Amino acid sequence: MLTPRDYDYKLTGTPVGEVRITVLGTAQDGGFPQPGCRKECCNEEPGEALERYPVSLGIVGEDGTYHMIEASRMMGKQFRIWQKEIGVYPSTPTSIILTHTHLGHIDGLGLLGKEVMGAKGVIIHCSKSVNELVENTPAYLELINQGAIKTRIWDQDTAFQPTKDCGFSISPIQVPHRSELSDNHAIIIQGNDKNLLFMPDHDSWTETLNHQTIREWLSDLEIDIALIDGTFWSSDELPHRDMKEIPHPTVQETLERLGRKLDSDPEIFFFHLNHTNPLCYPTSEQSMELQELGWSIANEGDSFRL
Ligand SMILES: [Zn+2]
Ligand SMILES: [Zn+2]
Ligand SMILES: [Zn+2]
Repeated sequence: MLTPRDYDYKLTGTPVGEVRITVLGTAQDGGFPQPGCRKECCNEEPGEALERYPVSLGIVGEDGTYHMIEASRMMGKQFRIWQKEIGVYPSTPTSIILTHTHLGHIDGLGLLGKEVMGAKGVIIHCSKSVNELVENTPAYLELINQGAIKTRIWDQDTAFQPTKDCGFSISPIQVPHRSELSDNHAIIIQGNDKNLLFMPDHDSWTETLNHQTIREWLSDLEIDIALIDGTFWSSDELPHRDMKEIPHPTVQETLERLGRKLDSDPEIFFFHLNHTNPLCYPTSEQSMELQELGWSIANEGDSFRL
């Protein structure tokens, strides 16, 4: 059995010297299928729908260091997806970047502790508000006390490099999203050639955009690849829940705002899919409609070189 230590990235001949990003999760916090759901979406034989894990990215830096965006409880399966894509079993990440503290974005943090990985000094990059929640949650504070993690608070709107020679930088930008536990940031990963936006959660385009259109906003941020909130296809997806309590722009609204993809547009991938979202099924009418307009649905294992 090979362990990450045996399987060092630099010793395997896999090219170091590029930044590789792998999509490790594309579901909303509950995952797909979602526990407790008795409806068709989660109760039928999986058929053509893929299992989906809470949103996460794996990044391998030019220096062979490993970094993740979000800490999901499905890290075990996600490391397998990452391994398939990069050809080696990933090492314990040097750093993890957290956007906010809703369940699926943070609930895997405990896996770094003694009971599982026994990690040492994994840097958790986060906002001041996320750091407060981490320090005030006994189970997470214990990880700090054990030395498994060290939090590092970022400066708002200031790019930083997780390691000196990783070849990419991280720019957090604050976006409105129900903040009962902490604030929320979208993350821009800037590589040598391309910039990627990771924005799984936001409340509404009117609050997020400081431009007239999504296009102008993405262009101003110089985004080449955008992974954006695709939680719900339409507003009638959860008939028994008040959608005002869980606001997200619907994919329908986003498509109306975007229209058809132009040659000059960035690649846009929808993710953070709720279990009720027909985009979970690759051949649904809605998946077809979205792709006919030129846009994409993110899948676990998608990868990008920046
Ligand atoms: Zn979420
Ligand atoms: Zn369901
Ligand atoms: Zn959230």
